[in-house]
Amino acid sequence: MERIVIVGAGISGLATAYYLQERLPQADITLLEAQNRPGGTIWTERKSGFQFETGPNGFLNHRASTLRLCQKLGIDNEIITAQPIAKKRLLYHQDDLYEMPSSFWQFLRTPLLSWRSKWRLLTERFRSRSTSTEDESVHDFTVRRTTEQIADLFADALVTGIYAGDPKQLSLQAAFPRVALAEKQFGSVSKGLPKILAMERERQGLPPEPKQPQLLSFRPGLRLLIEILSHRLKKKPILGVPVRTLMLEKTSGKRPTWTIDADGMDLLQADAVILTCPAPRQAALVADVDPELSDLIAHIPYVPIVVVALGYRQTDVLMPTEGMGYLAPHKDRRMLLGVQYCSSIYPERAPNDCLLLRAMCGGWHRREIMTLDDDKLSSAVRLELRMTLGTIRPPVFMQIIRWDPAIPQYTIGHLDRVANIELQAARHPGLFLGGNAYHGVSLNDCTEQAECMTQRVAEYFQSTPACSLQHEST
Ligand SMILES: Cc1cc2nc3c(=O)[nH]c(=O)nc-3n(C[C@H](O)[C@H](O)[C@H](O)COP(=O)(O)OP(=O)(O)OC[C@H]3O[C@@H](n4cnc5c(N)ncnc54)[C@H](O)[C@@H]3O)c2cc1C
Repeated sequence: MERIVIVGAGISGLATAYYLQERLPQADITLLEAQNRPGGTIWTERKSGFQFETGPNGFLNHRASTLRLCQKLGIDNEIITAQPIAKKRLLYHQDDLYEMPSSFWQFLRTPLLSWRSKWRLLTERFRSRSTSTEDESVHDFTVRRTTEQIADLFADALVTGIYAGDPKQLSLQAAFPRVALAEKQFGSVSKGLPKILAMERERQGLPPEPKQPQLLSFRPGLRLLIEILSHRLKKKPILGVPVRTLMLEKTSGKRPTWTIDADGMDLLQADAVILTCPAPRQAALVADVDPELSDLIAHIPYVPIVVVALGYRQTDVLMPTEGMGYLAPHKDRRMLLGVQYCSSIYPERAPNDCLLLRAMCGGWHRREIMTLDDDKLSSAVRLELRMTLGTIRPPVFMQIIRWDPAIPQYTIGHLDRVANIELQAARHPGLFLGGNAYHGVSLNDCTEQAECMTQRVAEYFQSTPACSLQHEST
């Protein structure tokens, strides 16, 4: 019987455990979680008639892996789609809110861009591709293909919305691989990206429509996915047991044994250990086994994020709150990275005469946000909402959720860094590194990687059949 220990019961750990128990039904799979609930950043809370997400607000339907998992779990009929109005996204620029253009013609008509930017955008498809193999930042790439203005407004908003990061630091190839591929394969983003997305949909067996990805969730919130996954595991996740150290027992047999020391538990032994906790924790866990590997992993930076969920009476908010919400590019930003109009996206999340908003703070440029206490943070957020959305009275409900570390940053050199990490980790049979630190941060990325991880672990057990192990010392 294979003994497998998975560290971290976020979506990566849970989905990996679920797929592994299907693939290796005889295996003993133990999932260890530091917190007192599973889900990691994914969870849904219900308070004062409001239902809000503590982390992600949904997943997109342009990739198949999370949908596939939902089908397997039998919860695909519980999926809800964001309201059509959620296609409308806003940008906070020079003290005003503007609709973000989403089509070519809207880009040409928007007051946000100069004529030069519009011309550069229009002619992007005729610009020659770069022949350099150097890693390039999202900012530099956008300036090269279009203009500084487009980089500062739209590339910045995109990076803020997904990574809460800095476009001058993030690697285009690692953070937006499809955009990089569009230029490489088709010579231009506007020509190539739609083709790449269409090919991807076809390859994954998804219908060609809708062309613009839609945001999905469940009526009871994303928590449903976490609860059902936990429930379907033969061996339930063990909660409140942070793993402290890993030790590798060298053996003369093919398959070494790992010893796992978790708070509040006896030492565990396993043939394979899968780490899906954030990179700083992974670095700490492998430090005794391989300091060099630990150092490489520790070089993946993270940003903190504070999510502030707020419920308002509709009559207390003067500006319209229809659409997905607004993002504030770095140059226009005061305190908030952006605000999601949650009850416009999913109307049943707030009582009838109320609105649910989520203000996001922190990110690359505002790490110090974590040092503000709740009182200071809440007054700063409310002040900014008064300015941007015209809130005239305090919220009827508010909750502050702090994430640190929140989102890994795929900075310049990330792909080489990950390749080195994987090479170094391969020197330790039975050690597997997963989670959102390496190959994508979205829910879809995490569930897709759980499938790949299952394949890798199964192959490992096939290639290293158990044999009568003898300690080196004996
Ligand atoms: C505020 C926010 C909004 C987001 N919005 C979206 C969105 O709308 N759509 C989208 O697709 N993605 C979104 N994301 C990204 C996505 O939610 C995450 O990338 C994904 O959930 C990560 O899952 P994970 O399991 O890899 O990691 P995590 O969720 O971080 O889980 C790791 C787990 O490991 C546990 N752990 C840590 N140390 C130890 C230890 N020593 N021992 C045992 N357990 C340990 C942690 O407690 C945690 O439960 C968002 C992320 C954040 C933070």
